[in-house]
Amino acid sequence: MDLNKLAEVLIPDENVKPLSYYEERYPERTLEKGAEVTRLAPSPTGFMHIGNLYVALANERIAHQSGGAFYLRIEDTDEKRKVEGAVEVIHSSLKYFGVEFDEGADLCGEYGPYYQRQRAEVYHAYAKELIRKGLAYPCFCGEEDLEKIRQHQTENKLLPGYYGEFARCRNLSEEEIYENLKAGKPYVIRLRSQGDVEKKHTFRDAIKGEITVTENNQDVVILKSDGIPTYHFAHAIDDHFMRTTLVIRGEEWLSSLPIHIELFGVLGFKLPRYGHNCSIQKMDGEVRRKLSKRKDPEASLTFYREQGYHKKAVKTYMLTLLNSNFEEWQMKNPTAAIEDFKYSIGKMGKSGALFDIVKLNDISKSVFATLSEREAYEFLKAWAEEYGNETQKGYYKDEEYACKVLALCMGVGGKKRRKDFYCAAQATEFISYFFDESFAPTYEYRFDRATVKSILQAFKQQYSYADDMQTWFEKVKAVATAHGFTTDMKAYKADPTAYAGSVADVAEILRIATTGLANTPDLWTIMQILGEERTLARLEKAIDSL
Ligand code: GLU
Repeated sequence: MDLNKLAEVLIPDENVKPLSYYEERYPERTLEKGAEVTRLAPSPTGFMHIGNLYVALANERIAHQSGGAFYLRIEDTDEKRKVEGAVEVIHSSLKYFGVEFDEGADLCGEYGPYYQRQRAEVYHAYAKELIRKGLAYPCFCGEEDLEKIRQHQTENKLLPGYYGEFARCRNLSEEEIYENLKAGKPYVIRLRSQGDVEKKHTFRDAIKGEITVTENNQDVVILKSDGIPTYHFAHAIDDHFMRTTLVIRGEEWLSSLPIHIELFGVLGFKLPRYGHNCSIQKMDGEVRRKLSKRKDPEASLTFYREQGYHKKAVKTYMLTLLNSNFEEWQMKNPTAAIEDFKYSIGKMGKSGALFDIVKLNDISKSVFATLSEREAYEFLKAWAEEYGNETQKGYYKDEEYACKVLALCMGVGGKKRRKDFYCAAQATEFISYFFDESFAPTYEYRFDRATVKSILQAFKQQYSYADDMQTWFEKVKAVATAHGFTTDMKAYKADPTAYAGSVADVAEILRIATTGLANTPDLWTIMQILGEERTLARLEKAIDSL
């Protein structure tokens, strides 16, 4: 059979150049010893899963720590999954968490184009080469033919797929091929696998360690009927010509590894190292399952921005999931930047990483507790501008007022920082009682209306903004005593029935009246921040409601 001619007929692409051209066009990178070239290769679906950040962070850390390069390749061979603006979403959502590429789609770089759709000529050049060598062939089987093969294999309990005796188009004669072509039958190009499933090899995965790999014997499709490559073929060509040294990808690709090993082999390319990382899982009741795009809002990267998680918190949490020794390192180096952590691929989890939002929230609380009121202000303001409603945007207009509120609520300057805030949405809700626009209390007191009213009236009469904390408290005590509430906490504890209540109860009544809440930071300071006018107005409003 004239295989040269067949290659020309099957893949008539005028742009294809001699293979030596591509080796020269995409030369080996000049790298220091040990430097790794890694990549992220997402499909442009417009959806960024937390798993994308997870794998991106691992790739980015390894490349940058080793003095290598980290690039973005867009795997857009599936037209149906493509969404307008998706690449922008990939860049912006990762950049927010401090993950940036050195080269790749929509950036500069010598190894592009970085969109697979723009690389047809390279795939075609190598598919032709495989045809010329008899290592690939056209397959005219339609869906129906494949279904028949599948059925037969199921009925006879045989391994599924297009291989060996089931690879019907493998041995078509030259005549049959040209007849099919003449009849206008669509065709795909398949690899003529040389593998043997009886043969097993030991393979060293950079994450999973030593694993056993069975040789591939499937005549997998390398070019689809429209000339677009499959993932397998594009992966081999692109990672070779973009000179990737380490492929870190999801473990769902582990089962395809034998195909990739064979493809690199028949193409004459050096196999990169691989690390298959585990998926992110969560506990759903008793069941451990993958974080699902459909069921779990926290699966989406957008969730963290909409909720206003601090990027450092998310990044820190990702690192605790990614490297088993990260937490220990952080405990030993509490003030070090997380970028200083020596990331190690060998410390990545071999089985599923368990995502726990409670733990993320705890980390987030600690991160908030390291911010000054000004830093918190800038962060919350930026969040409100983007995701808050009109009222919430208003909270951050008066910087001085907002900073005072934040300093109090976060315990800035106090002996112990409070750890109440974990994300901007929650923090903004937390401070909402300081703002009249959203102050809508339901006033739930533990005492009868008449007592509450009388206490509020008495306090309002005596209240002066100029009072220092001590004088203010003396007045609260006086109101308490006048209403049969004791100021002697010990005596009250010994015999609570002897009194109407204690001074703490009076303070609670004042607190509810002023803030709508039974628990808040220091009430005197709250009144100082609110200012005289607002404090009096709130007391009045509370009295009116009784
Ligand atoms: N496009 C593939 C995916 O999104 C890339 C896998 C890889 O990193 O090679 O799963």
